[in-house]
Amino acid sequence: MLAVNLARVNDRIHQAARRSGRTPDGIQLIAVTKSVSVETARELHQLGVPNLAESRPQKLWEKHDSIPEARWHLIGHLQRNKLERTVPLCSLIHSVDSLRLLTALDAFGRKHQPVPILLQFNCSHEEVKGGFQPEQVHELADILPGLIGLRIEGLMTMAALHADPDLCRPAFAELRSVRDKLQQRTGLSLPSLSMGMSNDFEVAIEEGATMVRLGSILFEGVS
Ligand SMILES: *Cc1c(COP(=O)(O)O)cnc(C)c1O
Repeated sequence: MLAVNLARVNDRIHQAARRSGRTPDGIQLIAVTKSVSVETARELHQLGVPNLAESRPQKLWEKHDSIPEARWHLIGHLQRNKLERTVPLCSLIHSVDSLRLLTALDAFGRKHQPVPILLQFNCSHEEVKGGFQPEQVHELADILPGLIGLRIEGLMTMAALHADPDLCRPAFAELRSVRDKLQQRTGLSLPSLSMGMSNDFEVAIEEGATMVRLGSILFEGVS
């Protein structure tokens, strides 16, 4: 079942890429394993998915212990008291959502080695969602070039849940536009756009996603 789901998902990623005149190589599948066991996560990794993600630091520690050969991504909130233990296990932290966390990660990276991160933006304008506001782009542009403890690879967002995924399009387009502005103002290169989940990944790809974070669609029918 897992192999079938994966083949279907890869096929849909490829089709969405082609529809938007992009090459499928430019889109990474990040498999979100938060709802499945270590065994299922390992099986998926062995089917050829190198990138796995968890949203809670403790769960990432546990699964990383069992599957250290995967490239692990943190996609949920990182409390600063868990930073030291979490950062060394992560290939990429997608969910840097506040100036306080940004500063703490920068300090950690200066002591050790630059920390690969994405800046999480709240483009759905829902109060419950974390992240920087698109209006903070000027403030961020002033400080990002000085953060030499970080390797800022791009931006991340979560769209609101809509029955019609096309309604997510403005949030994805906004993230891309925020990225373009940050690049222009800082001269930094911010190639990665982590956007799109099971419900809306094809629209996200059409709007420029380079990473889609998929959970439920991969594990449907998998016990
Ligand atoms: C759970 C989660 C996902 C995956 O969601 P699905 O709808 O199961 O694909 C993606 N991104 C984040 C930040 C999540 O917390």
